[in-house]
Amino acid sequence: NIAYFNDRFIPVDQAVVPIEERGLQLGDGVYEVLCIYNGVPFTLKEHLDRLEQSANAIEIDLPQSKEKLAELAWEGIRKAGIENGTLYMQVTRGTAPRNHLFPENITPNLYLVWKHGAPDFSKYKAEGAAVFTVADERWKNCYIKSINLLPNLLAKEQAKRKGGQEALLVQDEWAKEGSSSNLFIVKNGHFKTPQADHSILKGITRQKLITVLNEHQIKVSEQPISLTEVLEADEVFMTSTTMEVLPVVSVDGKQIGAGKPGDYFRQLTAWYSELVAQECKP
Ligand code: PMP
Repeated sequence: NIAYFNDRFIPVDQAVVPIEERGLQLGDGVYEVLCIYNGVPFTLKEHLDRLEQSANAIEIDLPQSKEKLAELAWEGIRKAGIENGTLYMQVTRGTAPRNHLFPENITPNLYLVWKHGAPDFSKYKAEGAAVFTVADERWKNCYIKSINLLPNLLAKEQAKRKGGQEALLVQDEWAKEGSSSNLFIVKNGHFKTPQADHSILKGITRQKLITVLNEHQIKVSEQPISLTEVLEADEVFMTSTTMEVLPVVSVDGKQIGAGKPGDYFRQLTAWYSELVAQECKP
């Protein structure tokens, strides 16, 4: 496992972050997490594009070009000798005496961490996951992948304490997304996922799955999903870079569909694995 701060590679446990770093003190930054399969960073371009969009949305310019960041991503993978793992990327406004106002002439900080291995969701992919609803108390710009994750952390912790693996964030009667994942449902063969407006993160896994489904002549409606629709769905999935596709078999203790991972889940997982295999050849 190795890291990179601004202009050099460092061991992950080296203390390098300045005390008055704005990400640290103010949460003034954005991030990305991507998966490395067979030594290849999956959907690197998509993650760099979203990193830039998130940064620009809070008036931060990327400290290096996306081409240079892509080179760095590959360099770290080679240096750390990662076959399968993750890459965390963070860009903050920079280092300056603490002040809510944006400091003038500040240089953004870049911070990367490469890790061997990824979280293991195999148990929940085999048995299905339990999710619990939590009121979505986040702000109105959830399309920005900001490092301010407190509401997400509190929600996931609450779901975990009830025995679940993920929180399903709800606004009034609407199911929006997970604390770190997007939502899909299937009813009578019809796929639906909430529209990617400013109220959710436009997940890269979500986008890839929509494309894969479309390639197989399956349409996905991007529109609001009520909690009732989730409860009455035949199958429910949560998707993210590290979870990929997670089958949901209960919501707030109420069984979904047959109460076990279904045929659509198996099909979707197979298609996703094919995509990963195509794009990440050893
Ligand atoms: N929604 C939220 C709130 C998330 O934090 C994540 C994970 N980054 C996602 C959705 C899934 O996004 P992706 O598929 O790009 O990992």
